[in-house]
Amino acid sequence: MLSQVVELIEKNNDFAITTHIKPDGDGVGSSLGLCWLLRSLGKNAEVIVRGDVPPSYASLPGAEEIRDVSELNGNYDAVFVIECSDIDRPGIAGLEKVFTVNIDHHATSEHFGSINWIDSTASAVGEMIYNLCKAVGGRITKEIAECVYMALVTDTGSFHFPNTSDRTLKVASELIKAGAKPSKIGEAVYYNYPWSRIELMRQVLSTVRRDESGRIAMMRQTLEMRENAEAIDGDNNGFVNIPLAAREIKAAVYMREVAPNKYRASLRSKGDINVARVAEKFGGGGHKNAAGLGVEGDWDELERDIVAALAEAIKASSE
Ligand code: 5GP
Ligand code: MN
Repeated sequence: MLSQVVELIEKNNDFAITTHIKPDGDGVGSSLGLCWLLRSLGKNAEVIVRGDVPPSYASLPGAEEIRDVSELNGNYDAVFVIECSDIDRPGIAGLEKVFTVNIDHHATSEHFGSINWIDSTASAVGEMIYNLCKAVGGRITKEIAECVYMALVTDTGSFHFPNTSDRTLKVASELIKAGAKPSKIGEAVYYNYPWSRIELMRQVLSTVRRDESGRIAMMRQTLEMRENAEAIDGDNNGFVNIPLAAREIKAAVYMREVAPNKYRASLRSKGDINVARVAEKFGGGGHKNAAGLGVEGDWDELERDIVAALAEAIKASSE
């Protein structure tokens, strides 16, 4: 919990921060925000991530210093693990042998850390980093503000997803006061993609269909589409939300072929339809309105099973 995190920071000096592979804006923004916070307190801190940082987040202060690491190779008093459901999500070997601090806002997170601070009421881990800053008596510097604002903006769909609360907007307001520029960060995220995103979108949208109820949308992405579009990671950010723009669509599933017979699926829903429960049935997890999972087998059959589970979830809701 928070008080343990505060005590740990006060009593130690050398920290690393990591997040999941293929990190999103909350993963990168919260990690860098925490890094700047620790440094502002006079501590040694660095962000280590397995793989590349997506271009949308490359302009954040400190992003250029992020080290690509597949095996832990520093001497740290503790490693913060941001936004991860389990200890394997960062894809960094050796994490299980060191003192870790699990900071997450997913209710489904395993308590894998030596310290676990999980707040499922936070819109983003970024909101928690802001709270941590206040709890350790830190000052919101411009660097912290820019990084944490990125986390909030990406995890709340620019402040319109149901996780957006009065607290989220209060924090965002403080971050803007401290120097975060909404238009600059918005442009970095939403108007900064390579053309390959448009190519990929064209192909993926050509597969969109509805189930017989007309309330569930299905969309697919094959390995071939990725190749044809010369897509890079992150090009398909937000695709799953496109069909939800239709009034009658209550839930959407977007399946990506990641290897022959192996798929990742993103689930999204409106209102009180709980897709985290649906994802859990298939070994995944997430939030009520946004969840994901990985499955293997026959594509048509898997899609049918997921759509059936989504139909159940709609039935169990008031939608
Ligand atoms: P996305 O569809 O954007 O990949 O994921 C939506 C949400 O579900 C994110 O908050 C993400 O952390 C969570 N999620 C996605 N895939 C998995 C998974 O395989 N396991 C768990 N526990 N959560 C996932
Ligand atoms: Mn998040």
